[in-house]
Amino acid sequence: MTQYDYDLVVIGAGSGGVRAARIAAGYGAKVAICEEFRIGGTCVIRGCVPKKLYVMASRFRDDFEDAAGFGWRVGEVEFDWKTLVSAKEGEISRLSGLYAQNLEKAGVEVIRARGVIASPNEVSFAGGKRVSTRYILVATGGAPVLRPEIPGLELAISSNEIFDLPELPRSLLVVGGGYIAVEFASVFARLGSKAHLSLRADLPLRGFDEDLRRRLDEGLVAAGIEIHRGALPVSLEKTASGLSATLQDGARLDVDAALLATGRAPLTQGLGLETAGVATKENGAIIVDAYSRSNIPSIYAVGDVTDRLNLTPVAIREGHAFADTVFGGKDVVVDHALTPTAVFTTPEIGTVGLTEAEAKAKYGRLNVFEASFRPMRATLSKRAEKVFMKILVDAASDLVVGVHILGPEAGEMAQLLAISLRLRARKADFDATMALHPTLAEELVTMRSPSRIVE
Ligand SMILES: Cc1cc2nc3c(=O)[nH]c(=O)nc-3n(C[C@H](O)[C@H](O)[C@H](O)COP(=O)(O)OP(=O)(O)OC[C@H]3O[C@@H](n4cnc5c(N)ncnc54)[C@H](O)[C@@H]3O)c2cc1C
Repeated sequence: MTQYDYDLVVIGAGSGGVRAARIAAGYGAKVAICEEFRIGGTCVIRGCVPKKLYVMASRFRDDFEDAAGFGWRVGEVEFDWKTLVSAKEGEISRLSGLYAQNLEKAGVEVIRARGVIASPNEVSFAGGKRVSTRYILVATGGAPVLRPEIPGLELAISSNEIFDLPELPRSLLVVGGGYIAVEFASVFARLGSKAHLSLRADLPLRGFDEDLRRRLDEGLVAAGIEIHRGALPVSLEKTASGLSATLQDGARLDVDAALLATGRAPLTQGLGLETAGVATKENGAIIVDAYSRSNIPSIYAVGDVTDRLNLTPVAIREGHAFADTVFGGKDVVVDHALTPTAVFTTPEIGTVGLTEAEAKAKYGRLNVFEASFRPMRATLSKRAEKVFMKILVDAASDLVVGVHILGPEAGEMAQLLAISLRLRARKADFDATMALHPTLAEELVTMRSPSRIVE
């Protein structure tokens, strides 16, 4: 049998790579993982974690305002950006350290260098070292793609830089309609920036349920975000005080910073995939089968680099399943269906299952249950705020096929609803479940008659 230096070399110590390395080592494999930036990957360093911390920071503004209705007298409030940035840095460094410790505890060798595939069974590292390995796992994630290609593009920043701006921008142009764009617009508007959102389409969040898109749009406008619809920037110029952006509709915006949140692409350039003969899609994503195996039997790929469902828990599951299958003698494939999603705007979105359009195409006749109501907190705070919930039910079988929520803690609700949908809950099961009063979620089990029947 061929002797290799390692059983597994993982390229990229992010969500998927770290999990795969630890689990494989736990099965007794000799594992090395390489990382060119910081252990933890996008989610920990410049994605989910710092993003959610900034979302939390932004929501205090509403809390201070709402407190008055409940009898609190809150004095002048002031937000200090540098305190938040430094506290965030402390937390992500702590997490990154924990990830590194856990890898070492599991017996994984951590190589702090860029790795490149040198052949189907060899990886070379920046600095010249080259090792042989039975398997290679590519877990290099993705990177922001700055679009559109306009004069002054180099003046814009991506989500990689936004967390560490030296100052809170007094005004910010966010370009893009995906979840990252709307989340940052929502955060900065509440932290005190004048936020502009420039969209290619009319509404943000293509692919989400239309009712959620419309209602979120209203929420963003209510938060003071100026939305420029069908009006992407055509140029960016430096000015004495910051940047001047010209949009397709002729509008000129003077802003301190321009964030392009216009999509991400798999990070596969210069990775040696061609040398090894690994097949990729046009956007660079590695093509894999249900076991995350590429067309080269010794090379696997998990997470964003495969562009399946670009979320942290999915990358972790894929990494775990890979290790279980290849080193644990189990047969594990990841089921991507019914993955719940949240958008951490304020108001927040939580969703699981099909959109109304998808459900209609799949099932034909649907019973649509909808509720729009004022949350209890808004009664005393007097905030003009509505929670929206929508349950989509296949009329023929009574199966709940999609639930969409806009409002406080919608993400938390979506996580639990995903269990019900996986258990193939019927609407009758929702109806038979006792309400928990007073909560927002009780509305999910008290909607009795459909507000619409769709066919
Ligand atoms: C702003 C933002 C917010 C997000 N919010 C959420 C959220 O709320 N919830 C959620 O589920 N997901 C969120 N995501 C997505 C999530 O971060 C990714 O889906 C997840 O990190 C993918 O994990 P991964 O292991 O595939 O790659 P990554 O976590 O990106 O890890 C890849 C690692 O590989 C390293 N690397 C790349 N090339 C090489 C090389 N050649 N050699 C060595 N190292 C290399 C990189 O430096 C990186 O550390 C967010 C992403 C962004 C950008």
